Amino acid sequence: MSPTLELTADLLRRPSVSPEDHGCLDVIAARLATIGFRNERFTYDPVDNLWARRGSGHPVLCFAGHTDVVPTGPREEWRTDPFEPVVEDGVLYGRGSADMKSGLAAMVTAAERFVGKHPKHAGSLAFLLTSDEEGPSVDGTRRVMGVLEARGEKIDYCVVGEPTSHERLGDTIKIGRRGSLSGRLTVHGVQGHIAYPHLADNPVHGFAPALAELVARHWDEGNEFFQPTSFQVSNIAAGTGAPNVVPGEMKVRFNLRFSTEQTVETLQHTVLGILDRHRVKYSLEWFVSGLPFLTPPGKLTDVVSAAVDDVTGIRPAFSTTGGTSDGRFIAPTGAQVVELGVANATIHKVNECVRVEDIDVLSQVYERVMERALTQVVAWPITSSPVPRARTS
Ligand SMILES: [Zn+2]
Repeated sequence: MSPTLELTADLLRRPSVSPEDHGCLDVIAARLATIGFRNERFTYDPVDNLWARRGSGHPVLCFAGHTDVVPTGPREEWRTDPFEPVVEDGVLYGRGSADMKSGLAAMVTAAERFVGKHPKHAGSLAFLLTSDEEGPSVDGTRRVMGVLEARGEKIDYCVVGEPTSHERLGDTIKIGRRGSLSGRLTVHGVQGHIAYPHLADNPVHGFAPALAELVARHWDEGNEFFQPTSFQVSNIAAGTGAPNVVPGEMKVRFNLRFSTEQTVETLQHTVLGILDRHRVKYSLEWFVSGLPFLTPPGKLTDVVSAAVDDVTGIRPAFSTTGGTSDGRFIAPTGAQVVELGVANATIHKVNECVRVEDIDVLSQVYERVMERALTQVVAWPITSSPVPRARTS
């Protein structure tokens, strides 16, 4: 068994359902301490975080990720125990195998080999790990970034180990993510007898034309790096349960995933305009869970692309699709952020799994990223790298 697979299996046996860490960070911190990292733990009960750094200079190359996993869902639908790693036909099964304990293990073993070969590397190698990514994400990366910022400690390049690959390891990397804006809308009406509608005011009917417009709206075209903004209703509820009562109010929850073509303000302005135009009586609360961020093709994308190419012979496509990630807390500090990890086809599903082979390949790619970023041996920046096409599907 390879050291990376062994460490992945060790982490998988710890049922670290968000926001629990279940000792994952202890295991990782101990291994990093052995190879000369200075570890700092930030514990905001029950969330646990680790900031580990080796070296004091720049550039600071940071590997980021999370030890927490989403719940298993119905256990009886799993072919194996989700917290007992099992390899079958070259595939490793377990909750967190793809998202993202194999990524964590790959980073750690990559660092061990890299430090062994280059004990006097340039700059700094760092790890920023949390147990609060799948949950509220308040006391995790966001809070630790606040601590680092307050003391002037900067990350220059950050590789987030989230699963980003499609068919083959490294075929896709994320260079940004869309923003996410949610609304909790209450449409006010007047309850009444369904046979006397003129004495009531039906909030469902009042909202329907506005909803039709929100759903049909072409928000923008997206751009070179982002797919178009999309509006989705996640919950809608009205009614007393009785078949003869017009409800007095309706509750709607919706979400906008938005490109850099929009801002929170432009989206709010549009939504309010539509509600007002249709004379909807409402109250509305907004929640911003992440602003869009983008690392345009440059040094870090060159390094990561070249590292993938070195190991696998393919050049990754650049993407900004999928849910938001903790990169949203790191990118605003000025760091270049790229996400690269194993295949994401089974994440958050029952029978989550990863190809065993990919775990070792990913570790080699991460090691190559470290070499290209932090040693003099390979010239920095990398030249002759064509800008790969943007992927928006
Ligand atoms: Zn994840």
